[in-house]
Amino acid sequence: MITVQEAQSIISNNIQPLGFETVSLKNTGNRVLAQDITATFPMPQFDNSAMDGFAVRAVDTEGADKSSPAILKMAGVSSAGTPSDIILKPGQCAQCMTGAAIPDGADAIVIVENTNGFSDSGTVQIFQEANIGEHIRRQGEEIEKSDVLISRGTCITPGEIGTLATFGYEKVSVMIKPKVAIFVTGSELVEPGNKIKIGQIYNSNLYMFAELAEKSGVEVVMREVIKDDKDSLRRLLSEALQTCDVIISSGGVSMGRFDYVREVYNKLGVQEHFWKVAQKPGKPLFFGRADSTLIFGLPGNPVSSFICYVEYVHPVMQDLQQKKRDPKHQAILTENFPVESKKYRYLFGRSWIDSRGKLLCSPASKMGSHMLTASLESNCILESPPRKQGLKAGDEITINPLNWRNIE
Ligand code: AMP
Ligand code: MG
Repeated sequence: MITVQEAQSIISNNIQPLGFETVSLKNTGNRVLAQDITATFPMPQFDNSAMDGFAVRAVDTEGADKSSPAILKMAGVSSAGTPSDIILKPGQCAQCMTGAAIPDGADAIVIVENTNGFSDSGTVQIFQEANIGEHIRRQGEEIEKSDVLISRGTCITPGEIGTLATFGYEKVSVMIKPKVAIFVTGSELVEPGNKIKIGQIYNSNLYMFAELAEKSGVEVVMREVIKDDKDSLRRLLSEALQTCDVIISSGGVSMGRFDYVREVYNKLGVQEHFWKVAQKPGKPLFFGRADSTLIFGLPGNPVSSFICYVEYVHPVMQDLQQKKRDPKHQAILTENFPVESKKYRYLFGRSWIDSRGKLLCSPASKMGSHMLTASLESNCILESPPRKQGLKAGDEITINPLNWRNIE
């Protein structure tokens, strides 16, 4: 049996990134950038007003207050989208709306609240002195032209897509999403919504895999529930080998009499890279490859499947898309953690930051590999390499955050 580190490095050695494609801006959400995004122009692109008000020459407002306003002549209007070509002369001002270009000659904005308001009158009363530069957004103050805004490998979230749009990008180069098949095996599985008899269970893993795959930003192209039957397994797995970059199955890889998954993979020409890892849960984990398709046979117990996905499959999905892997952290245990002497130990757990800013954590109380409800109270996976001595409250342990949950 190999160690977790050996298993991880075998998997890493078998990953070939999938390359990139060009997509329209509206389809870039949750995709990984394959290009650096640079500023196509300075931002702001031109000097413009931060407020609705009057563009003035600050010098013309000297000493102005409510009792002795400065009276300025109206030279025109500059509004967002419709700049004016006025050049302010001494004693003149222009109505200037938020986002509108600052007319030449003006060096400050007086907000409308500090005047007698917008009107068609030829003059306006200014009730407050303006300072040079006040309420003016200067060209380039946010970003210089050609600055790198977002680097290759970044996942596109609302901030990134907004920034891409801001700089006029409509076609964007993104990493190709892995095409994924998710299978669950087991003659006992029944779909939610149907009645179950004694001995049967509802299929949870397929739904869980679909959500996990969504979190990894990949495209699920096949999803099937398969009986413990070699023919159906062979038919569906061979179809997936033709069409998918990654195959994930659950169940049927242990020592049971009807555990056919490994045998069928082998018969289909999948090169087995490992089967069985010194870990708990998830010992019978299978990893193989056929051409460029990576195959993960995860054990059927829901917690094993979940944890093996997060620890082994999710990082692969990130690597295939050349995305930086999510970091793990060190946290301090507030309770004992049941290590294993020969196996790597994973448990669902909760982590939080205490009032002094320390990252603390504790394992879930439900520890069985069939106890999926342990995930409900968890926001991370706690993990420890094999150790002779137990880990106690106060000791450090590695945590792998479930990044769709918050660390409070
Ligand atoms: P196996 O790895 O096939 O031996 O399955 C181990 C345990 O996980 C058995 O108790 C199965 O009934 C259960 N199991 C397998 N597949 C699923 C699934 N899709 N949903 C829920 N439990 C499952
Ligand atoms: Mg089974």
